[in-house]
Amino acid sequence: MNFYGWLNDRLAKTKESGLYRTLRTMNTAPSPEMYVDGQKYIVFSSNNYLGLANDSRLILAAEKALHEFGVGSSGSRLTTGNTQWHQKLEKRFADFKQTESALLFSSGYLANIGVLTSLPEKGDVIFSDQLNHASIIDGCRLSQADTVIYNHVDMEDLEKKLKETNSSRRRFIVTDGVFSMDGTIAPLDKIMSLAQRYHAFVIVDDAHATGVLGENGRGTSEFFHVFPDVVISALSKAVGTEGGVVSGSKVFIDFLRNHARTFIFQTALSPSICAASYTALEIIEHSKEKRQQLLIKAKRIKTSLQEMGYTVKGDHTPIIPVLIGDAHKAVLFAKRLQEKGIYAPAIRPPTVPIGESRIRLTVTADHSLKEIDYLLHAFKLIGKELNMIK
Ligand SMILES: *Cc1c(COP(=O)(O)O)cnc(C)c1O
Repeated sequence: MNFYGWLNDRLAKTKESGLYRTLRTMNTAPSPEMYVDGQKYIVFSSNNYLGLANDSRLILAAEKALHEFGVGSSGSRLTTGNTQWHQKLEKRFADFKQTESALLFSSGYLANIGVLTSLPEKGDVIFSDQLNHASIIDGCRLSQADTVIYNHVDMEDLEKKLKETNSSRRRFIVTDGVFSMDGTIAPLDKIMSLAQRYHAFVIVDDAHATGVLGENGRGTSEFFHVFPDVVISALSKAVGTEGGVVSGSKVFIDFLRNHARTFIFQTALSPSICAASYTALEIIEHSKEKRQQLLIKAKRIKTSLQEMGYTVKGDHTPIIPVLIGDAHKAVLFAKRLQEKGIYAPAIRPPTVPIGESRIRLTVTADHSLKEIDYLLHAFKLIGKELNMIK
């Protein structure tokens, strides 16, 4: 078979299984109400939890840095790409996460890859939650260490697997803080106790928790009042900008700066993005009320959907996954929502297991009660139409 024949064949299979993906074009800045492909929608799928992605204070900070430092950073941090804004942000982030030090990467994805390919070495074992984010999975695959997968937030299974491995090996437990597709909060207090008992190090990916969980938005560690060895944050979610940050002890960050390939061989983020992120952290620490509002709105959606008869996964986070099951049905459901002016795409395999396709709703602090009630009404109508609820 020729090259194009083979690719077309593969794509035809993707389409048959209901897993074909296409891009949609956003015609407006992130907000609860957006134009998508020229049509107005209420968006319930954004990670912009605190509404900061389009905040005028962040835009102003970025603009000032743009005029001073230009658009591109022009080099890696270790050559010509490092500016005061990169350093100021790292220092500010370490303060925010209450760690000694922090290191900036170009994305959360690359931060995970950087940590998992440099810290665990050959002969070490990584214990990874079954539902960890793709970037953790890829990090484990690229690592020289062995990976043992434990059942989702199943502490008995984790302990059993820790027991089964030789205690002379260095061991790392890696977990999402808030699981991106299920909205579960990792039981970090229990993970920390197990880590202590079995002499393991703990790595937490706090992408969806940073800015959202804990009194000051410091994330899962603040939520549980524990201090994991390594915390990785994405700035692309509640912080509203871009980049990944690893926080931890001074010596660990020094190690990463010297060994993480995705840090060493990547062009530094634009200084303007760092300036905007810096401003975002200042705002986040003083957004207690907004965080409370956010979680109250999430709860309202979740309990209302459950009362209607839907199966909703997850803990108390702004991620509200509504189980549909079959991939085709989930796509149909998303289409019906779109016809009603609601944007919340279906999540299908391989992002989630087969048979667990879902509408993954997220809510932000900026959604109005009117918008939320409109969403709930739509779920009621569509659920009845598709014979999913009574
Ligand atoms: C979004 C996300 C990432 C990737 O972060 P980016 O900055 O988008 O690369 C990593 N881990 C989790 C859990 C995420 O949700």
